[in-house]
Amino acid sequence: MTMTLDAQARKVSHAQMYIGGEWTDPAAGQTFPTVDPNTGETIAEIPRGDASDVDRAVAAAKAAAVDWQFTDAIARAALLRSLAALVTENADELARLEALDSGHYLAKAAELIGAIPLWLEYWAGLADKVGGRTIEVPGNKLSFTLLEPLGVTGHIIPWNYPLLILVRSCAPALALGNTCVVKPAEDTSLSALKFADLVHQAGFPAGVFNVVTGLGAEAGAALAAHSDIAGITFTGSTETGKTVAKLAADHVAQVNLELGGKSPTIVFPDARLDDAVEAAVQGFCSHTGQVCVAGSRLFVHQDIKDAFLDKLVARLRTAQIGDGFDESTQMGPLVSKTQYDRVRNYIEIGKSEATLLYGGGRPEGAPEGGYFVEPTVFTDVASDSRIGREEIFGPVASVITWSQENELIEACNDSIYGLFAVVFTQDITKALTTARRLAAGGVMINDWFGELPMAPHGGYKQSGTGREEGFEAIGGYTQVKHVTVNLDASLRSGADWAGAPL
Ligand code: NAD
Repeated sequence: MTMTLDAQARKVSHAQMYIGGEWTDPAAGQTFPTVDPNTGETIAEIPRGDASDVDRAVAAAKAAAVDWQFTDAIARAALLRSLAALVTENADELARLEALDSGHYLAKAAELIGAIPLWLEYWAGLADKVGGRTIEVPGNKLSFTLLEPLGVTGHIIPWNYPLLILVRSCAPALALGNTCVVKPAEDTSLSALKFADLVHQAGFPAGVFNVVTGLGAEAGAALAAHSDIAGITFTGSTETGKTVAKLAADHVAQVNLELGGKSPTIVFPDARLDDAVEAAVQGFCSHTGQVCVAGSRLFVHQDIKDAFLDKLVARLRTAQIGDGFDESTQMGPLVSKTQYDRVRNYIEIGKSEATLLYGGGRPEGAPEGGYFVEPTVFTDVASDSRIGREEIFGPVASVITWSQENELIEACNDSIYGLFAVVFTQDITKALTTARRLAAGGVMINDWFGELPMAPHGGYKQSGTGREEGFEAIGGYTQVKHVTVNLDASLRSGADWAGAPL
């Protein structure tokens, strides 16, 4: 691999795309800059792949697909395990690239990269255990199903958890016999390219895994629209997800959509308040609020509202915000100038719609040029306000006070989204009843979110379709073939017309 990281200078030289087992420049020779969100300075020039590069990558993945499908599952699993070991060996460099490109502070980036082998190992473990079933049919026949790979799968990745999200969709795809073409987000391509280097070192056959970097409207749209893509996993905003689904519908590709959210954190009056406050802070400040499951709506019971808000503000005052490479930092910058402007704009909207309780500005002493914002809390948020309804994707929370449980559930579910919810109460009946009544793909009781390879993740309503992770993800990367064998020595004339309805 030609790409090198100068950790001191925070620069990367000569990034190339990975297609058909080789490092390559884009056909048109164009690049675009990627910046360090801590400083706003360019880290590297990224190849601007276009439709012709996507064509090359899909052709390479298609050429490799049949051999990969019929490679023993045990051998596919062994390659995934080698890859997991290589990720561990190269964790330091991967964490630095991720921190530099995405704005995760270094310790958090190291934690995320450290977890990635779990996903690779999980799917390596399942590779030789996924299969079909036998079916009881009338007559002397053996009937069964085969779970087969889709073929070439496309993976369009967002910038918030770049390598984790790449791995959570490519690991099952590869384990189950598909080949992959990945399009990382334009703001965060570096960890995907380093990962491709490790795929190469692990010995995956050429064409099984490919990375085309580029812009969403160019390389991303070309990938979703490509007629040789049999399945596409898109993780990103609901708006772009709809575009991708329409492009994929034109050639009837299977689609997994992991989209946006506006998730509630519910605090009952009997909640352990310190824990609820901590979970609330994690919920909207984790990765500076750029988390799909962010708990950006805080539903606090009126009896504990004052105590809760006092503790919340006291906790937010302790937040260490700054350059992600500084060891004391607990909250880094937003990913880009675009995201910074978007969040600042929502804060201004919030000031006109609600009451600003905390934050709203630039943190004191934050590095010049970086995209830093304070954690921001609004109270008196109306149910029809923009800050109460729209996904902001920054460290901005709306506090909504409640007293009646029916109204609470109605308000929580009054959203186009349904990704996730957090419930804080010590009453198990209340907790489980609430969990059942919430329209969300995941509910956490008395804790904040934690993503795991074995637990299905996905959304209700406009938060998505399909599931990543867990057994539930298998359907997203396989198709079912039904096979029936006539075990009679000869075909009896008319037997099928007599014995079967069609
Ligand atoms: P985005 O929709 O802007 O971009 C996601 C990806 O789509 C990028 O790779 C981008 O280049 C590509 N893209 C953009 N336009 C495209 C087009 N016309 N055709 C094809 N591809 C295109 O999202 P983002 O800003 O990178 O990520 C933030 C969003 O992702 C938030 O809404 C967040 O909630 C969501 N998200 C969801 C999950 C989940 O698991 N549900 C996880 C992470 C992020």
